[in-house]
Amino acid sequence: MPEDPGVAVADSLTAELQKILRPDQVVADPVDRDAYAHDDAEWAEYRRPAAVVLAETTQDVAAVVRFAASRGANVVARGAGTGLSGGANALQDAIVVSLERMTRVIEVNAAERYVVAEAGVINDDLRAAVAAHGLWYPPDPASYRISTIGGNAATNAGGICCVKYGVTRDYVLGMTVVLADGDVVRLGRRTAKGATGYDLTALMVGSEGTLGIITELTLSLLPLGGREERAVVGSFASLEAAGVAVAAITAAGIIPSALELIDEMCVRAVDEWQGLGLPQGVAALLLSTVDEPGATGAAAAASIARHMTDAGALAVDEAVEPVEIDRLFLARRLAYPALERLGPVLTEDICVPRAAVPAMLGRIRDTAAAHDVVIATIAHAGDGNLHPLIIAPEGDAAAKARAKQAFDRIVEDCRDLGGTVTGEHGVGLLKLPGARAELGGRVLAMHRDIKAALDPLGTLNPGKAF
Ligand SMILES: Cc1cc2nc3c(=O)[nH]c(=O)nc-3n(C[C@H](O)[C@H](O)[C@H](O)COP(=O)(O)OP(=O)(O)OC[C@H]3O[C@@H](n4cnc5c(N)ncnc54)[C@H](O)[C@@H]3O)c2cc1C
Repeated sequence: MPEDPGVAVADSLTAELQKILRPDQVVADPVDRDAYAHDDAEWAEYRRPAAVVLAETTQDVAAVVRFAASRGANVVARGAGTGLSGGANALQDAIVVSLERMTRVIEVNAAERYVVAEAGVINDDLRAAVAAHGLWYPPDPASYRISTIGGNAATNAGGICCVKYGVTRDYVLGMTVVLADGDVVRLGRRTAKGATGYDLTALMVGSEGTLGIITELTLSLLPLGGREERAVVGSFASLEAAGVAVAAITAAGIIPSALELIDEMCVRAVDEWQGLGLPQGVAALLLSTVDEPGATGAAAAASIARHMTDAGALAVDEAVEPVEIDRLFLARRLAYPALERLGPVLTEDICVPRAAVPAMLGRIRDTAAAHDVVIATIAHAGDGNLHPLIIAPEGDAAAKARAKQAFDRIVEDCRDLGGTVTGEHGVGLLKLPGARAELGGRVLAMHRDIKAALDPLGTLNPGKAF
């Protein structure tokens, strides 16, 4: 654990916070505080938090933010800590406010098709709660079983079905937010449409805890029924051939409900771990679903299969039974944890134009060779959102240094191909240099102006995002 904050500072903050909240809402043991020091991006800088509080209400969050501002401390909002950019990492003198206890689903309104819930609700719990009313919350990050809707909103999380149904921002109607001075505001609306004022709700989405702490969300929903899933999975002898299939499917105007890619290394890692009998010796699996019912869905699936074959697929499997679809997609779901077993993973989140997917996949392969690093790739390929995962053996400092160089190279290549440095994980700490370069000049200055206007003391998650 890097550098402990001054013990005196930590003790004094903890003692004072125990007077503001109940003592059991403040994590006093320094070792227990370590569990809140970073998210899933251990490669980024972090320190032991000066204090950790377990908020239970919006008022708790407001009281802690007001206290931090008065003491010159800073506040890091934390959902489940599954972030992959270091956005929830504690830096100097940070008070981490965890929303893990704020898990109430407050209202499901079936007639208006929205749900109101506290920010600490786990995405999958929200899905289950609204499914009981015949409703569906589409944004489905692969972490949906472990990440919170507050974290999803703060990072504008994407996911597997987002290629067709959009990302978290498309579903956030409104929210309750604690501002940097501890004031509480309600932003947005509960109506289907609205054009009153600047879209401050959208501004908060993706702001990574730097402009306010979201304590409650109003999310729009879709009807649960009416979809009929079919899966088409192709295996390819080269990554580029799989990329050509992606470009062809999207250029043909087909909108799959999932279009995911995993490369050979992912397939091998999953198979060695779980023994699923996955095809060996293939360079990539391309996994797609369509969900239109009846003949329309069947025609879309057939068309996807044709494009895969035309791009040179070695084999194409189709499935309509849910159990069989789950089996085909299991390798995709297990890919990230399977790779984490091989060593610390440095996760990229680049997004390139769909037509540039084949070229980007080629450049990633070249970068791995040039920097002598291991790179596995998982991709929300239908969005052009690629996750090259750079793996360095534990304790190998030279490999770690090469991995960081490869990370920068991939970011440069992505921008060269007209892409953006983060498709869905957010900037956090890992992508700060790339984001600054991408935004640049006046636009970067606008970001800083907004931050200064809403958080003049730099209380909320300083050192992150910009
Ligand atoms: C196995 C795995 C798979 C993943 N798959 C995907 C994927 O498919 N798509 C995707 O988009 N992401 C994915 N992620 C990344 C991660 O799950 C998402 O970024 C998620 O949205 C983070 O939610 P969280 O609750 O864990 O937030 P945290 O990690 O706790 O926080 C993330 C950021 O949001 C801020 N924050 C958290 N809660 C609040 C709040 N209430 N108010 C204000 N700011 C807040 C934090 O300060 C931090 O900057 C994956 C991660 C893992 C480990």
